[in-house]
Amino acid sequence: MSDQITNLNCVRCPLGCGLSVHIQKGQITEIMGNTCPKGAEYAKRELMDPRRILTTTIKVKNGHLPVVSVKTDMDISKDKIFECMKSLKDLEIEAPINIGQTVIENLAGTPAALVATKQVRRKT
Ligand code: SF4
Repeated sequence: MSDQITNLNCVRCPLGCGLSVHIQKGQITEIMGNTCPKGAEYAKRELMDPRRILTTTIKVKNGHLPVVSVKTDMDISKDKIFECMKSLKDLEIEAPINIGQTVIENLAGTPAALVATKQVRRKT
């Protein structure tokens, strides 16, 4: 496997340092451009085990709104995002729903819980 340089921007703070990551035989050998150690941590995580907070909406039954916005309470592996979204496709939850309410524990087998980020009142 040949040497490779990957460029990315650190998103850990508004400075947004441009990072240059050297990879040799699948291993990171050098990280340049980071102003602080968080940039190196970010680059390692992003290239070896990328993770994201999942945000989406799910359907609501008997609510004043037809859907509620939700997000995971921790970042999850990017590889699991599709599976998580698929598991939510036909889900419908009953109103009322409060902000911060756990909608699902261990979403698609991950350690993450899905929590509501909006309140939905019961339709009167
Ligand atoms: S490397 Fe440090 S200073 Fe630069 S964007 Fe990341 S967190 Fe901010």
